[in-house]
Amino acid sequence: MNIEDLYLINSFYKLPVKIECGKGPYVYDINGEKYLDFMCGYGVALLGHGHPAIIDAIKSQIEKIITVHSSLYSKVREEFLGTLFNILPSYLNKCFLTNSGSEAIELAFKLVRKFTKKRGIISMLNSYHGKTMGALSLTGKEKYRKAFEPLVPGVKYAEYGNVEDLKNKIDNEVGGVILEPIQGEAGVIIPKEDYLKAVREICDDKNLLLILDEIQTGLGRTGSMFYFEQKYIEPDILCIGKGLAGGLPVGCVITRKEIANSMNIGEHTSTFSASPLVCAVAKKVLEEIHNNKIYLNAKYIGEKFINILNEFCKYNIINEIRGIGLMIAIEFKIDIRNLLLRLLRNHMLTCYTSPNIIRFLPPLNISEKEIKEAYEKIEKTLENYGSN
Ligand code: PMP
Repeated sequence: MNIEDLYLINSFYKLPVKIECGKGPYVYDINGEKYLDFMCGYGVALLGHGHPAIIDAIKSQIEKIITVHSSLYSKVREEFLGTLFNILPSYLNKCFLTNSGSEAIELAFKLVRKFTKKRGIISMLNSYHGKTMGALSLTGKEKYRKAFEPLVPGVKYAEYGNVEDLKNKIDNEVGGVILEPIQGEAGVIIPKEDYLKAVREICDDKNLLLILDEIQTGLGRTGSMFYFEQKYIEPDILCIGKGLAGGLPVGCVITRKEIANSMNIGEHTSTFSASPLVCAVAKKVLEEIHNNKIYLNAKYIGEKFINILNEFCKYNIINEIRGIGLMIAIEFKIDIRNLLLRLLRNHMLTCYTSPNIIRFLPPLNISEKEIKEAYEKIEKTLENYGSN
C-alpha cells in the first residue's frame, strides 16, 4: 500500500501518479515521465512550475528572514502591500493575509457580522467557499455540510443566477451576500450577462455587503486581474488566494477602510499572517501577472482553447464546453472518472470537479503549442473511449 494512503486521512480522490518535479506547464513523475499539467494544484501554479522569478524571490527572502510576526513591522510586507494596492481600485484599501482560501472566507464572514451587526448571510446553491466550519457553512453543497451540522447559523442559500430567489431570501437579519462570480467547483458555471450587476444593485438597495469570492477567478485566470472588473461591479469584500504566493499557502481578504475598521485589535489574528516569505513571493507574482499583462494571454489563449475544444462536441458523450479565460470545463453526459485516468495515461493532468465535468486550470502563461498538445491528448483519450 502507498504510504500516503496508509497514513494520510482518507480525504482526496487521488490519481495514481507520484510527482517529483515540474517545469513550466509540465510535471514529471518519479520515473521521469512527463505530464502536461492543466490541473496546476487546482489553479495554483498561475505562472507554471519552477518560474525563475518565484524561485529567485523565495531564495533571496529565505536568506534574509522567513518569519516576522504581524505584531512587528516588515519591509517586504510593506512592499507587497504597495504592489497589491497599486493594482486594486482605490476604494479597496485594507487587507488581511490568511493561510488559505477557506480562512479568507472565515474572515469575510466575520467582517459581515462585525460591520453590519447582523447574523445572516446569503450564499448560493452549489457554491464552494471551502471546508473550515465557517466557510463550509457558506458552501452551497449539502453533501459537504450534512455530516458536520450544526454549522454556523444564519446562512441561507439562493439559486445561483436567479435574482428573484435572492430577493426573496433577504430579510432584516441578513447583512451580506457571498458568491463566486463564476462558480468554479460547481463546474465553471457562468451566470447570465447582467446577473452580477443585478446582485450589486440589490445589495445597494438593501444595504447589504457584497462579498466576491475570487479565490479561483482572480489574479488573471479569467482574462483580467479580477473578474469583477469585466462586469463593472465593485465588491465590498474581495477574497483571493490560490496562486497569490506562487504555491505557498495564502489567502487574502480585501475591503474598504470603514468595513475593516469595524474590527478591534485582537479580534482576528493568525500566527503566519503575512509572513515575509509569502509577501516576497506574492509581490513577485502580482508584478509578473500585472506588469507583463499575463491575464491578456489567459484571455487570448483561453478563447483559442475553447474554440478548438468545441470540435469535440462531435462526440456524443459531451454535453457542453464552456469557460472564460483559462477557467474552462467540459461537461460530459457520462461519469468522467475513467476519462481522468485515461487522460493521465495520455500524460495529461486535469481537475476533478463533479462526476460529469472535467475542468482545466492551466498556467496563465501557456502558449498555443501547449493548447495544441492538450487538444491532441484529449482527442486521443476521447477517440479511444469505449475501447480498453
Ligand atoms: N473559494 C473558492 C472559489 C475556491 O475555489 C476554493 C478552493 N478551491 C476555496 C474558496 C477554498 O480555498 P482553500 O482550498 O485554499 O481553503
